[in-house]
Amino acid sequence: MKSIQYTDVVIVGGGASGLAAAVELRMSSPEFSVTVIEKMSETGRKLRATGSGRCNITNTSANGYIEIMKFFTRIGLVTRTYDNGLVYPYSESASDAADLLAARAGELGVRVITDAEVTAIRKSSAGNKPANMRFEIDYTVKEKAETRSGKISAEKSLSSEYVILACGGKAGPMFGTTGDGYRIARELGHTVVTPVPVLTPIECSEWGPSHRPCAVNLAGTRTRCVVTLCKSDSDEPGSYTEIFTEAGELQFTRFGISGICVFNMTRHMRYDRSRGESLSDFIVKADLYPDGDVEDYLRDRRDNAFPGELTADVLRTLLKENIAAYVLDSVSAVNGPAPEKRVRDLTDGDIATIGDAVHGLTFHPERIRGWKDAQATSGGISMEEIDPETCESLIVSGLYITGELADRDFPCGGFNLSNAWLTGITAARAITHKKG
Ligand SMILES: Cc1cc2nc3c(=O)[nH]c(=O)nc-3n(C[C@H](O)[C@H](O)[C@H](O)COP(=O)(O)OP(=O)(O)OC[C@H]3O[C@@H](n4cnc5c(N)ncnc54)[C@H](O)[C@@H]3O)c2cc1C
Repeated sequence: MKSIQYTDVVIVGGGASGLAAAVELRMSSPEFSVTVIEKMSETGRKLRATGSGRCNITNTSANGYIEIMKFFTRIGLVTRTYDNGLVYPYSESASDAADLLAARAGELGVRVITDAEVTAIRKSSAGNKPANMRFEIDYTVKEKAETRSGKISAEKSLSSEYVILACGGKAGPMFGTTGDGYRIARELGHTVVTPVPVLTPIECSEWGPSHRPCAVNLAGTRTRCVVTLCKSDSDEPGSYTEIFTEAGELQFTRFGISGICVFNMTRHMRYDRSRGESLSDFIVKADLYPDGDVEDYLRDRRDNAFPGELTADVLRTLLKENIAAYVLDSVSAVNGPAPEKRVRDLTDGDIATIGDAVHGLTFHPERIRGWKDAQATSGGISMEEIDPETCESLIVSGLYITGELADRDFPCGGFNLSNAWLTGITAARAITHKKG
């Protein structure tokens, strides 16, 4: 019979919430033995990539902001806060934050097993007494030794009184998050709301080779604007309802649109296939001149134009050259004025057409980019099955579910990491309270 080592708490996943939970547990209850099992060769792989390597750790308006800042102050992370509320490590280095958490975990005596993938969790009773119910956690470890066919894996098990499932969602699978937690949770009796990638760029049909004009020349350009997501009304063909709007920097890529305002928009692009809905029900409008009325401006320039001034040149006083060219190509493709038309020759109708395009340049989403490009997961373990006060499962006592694994997602700006820290700390405190 294989001998199974016992540890008070097993944490599955050494990412943001797992590390926060481990550190908090050992700080508040040094007598607890805590083991983190991490699939990757080091903890905090995703954390190191956050905020484009700068790690936007929290936000002054995030839920639990004060608690989170107290935690970081206790472990010695110095932070800086920008006027817009975004908080970063003072060094603006995501690796520094990840290294600090790993170092504190080590100093506090957390046992960390890396290159180890949890494959199953069971709850069984020793001697059939409910009081003796324990978790058994199976995992495979990649051994250091390698054969010609690759690394050898060994199958191992741990037993524990508590388990914190902190293995993240599916966004960024290259950082170890491949959705293992959903299967493990289902096997333990939990319901999983279908996970979908969010905070990700959008591919649009305007970039397709058959689209005239093709927007590919916009690739690499950024512009400040207001984006609005509209969804078609099923009972009124041709009419749309605005469902999300945000001011920000729109980034054009080689396949479509990106940028934080676009990422945030993807959280609202839910549709129900069973009701005949699809992604083509959505359009994205960009107001490229939200600070004024382009029609007033064009009328003024028409009436006071320098002789021979081209419409394209006038538009370039408001928009970047390639964006102005794309807008005029788009309107001329629908019988608007040709780009080379002189501004003094613009009719009121021409000006209205250009106005519609500048204040509502329209893109048609074809695909929301997948898991590799996504920064978060929408969906996950049903929140109806988790106690929000403690993060404890309402299905399996002693099981805690933290971070992105649960059906909870937030916009960009430090809110997703805030959720990870806060739920990790909350679960740790709940265990301390329960055991004490
Ligand atoms: C590129 C990128 C940039 C981002 N930038 C920001 C940002 O600046 N600010 C912000 O608030 N949010 C950001 N996010 C989102 C944020 O990183 C996540 O929401 C957060 O890390 C989730 O924390 P977590 O603890 O739930 O999971 P994770 O941090 O993803 O950690 C889960 C861990 O579990 C491990 N694991 C998975 N399965 C197993 C298994 N079977 N056995 C053992 N271990 C396992 C994984 O390897 C991983 O290390 C970003 C995300 C990405 C992808």
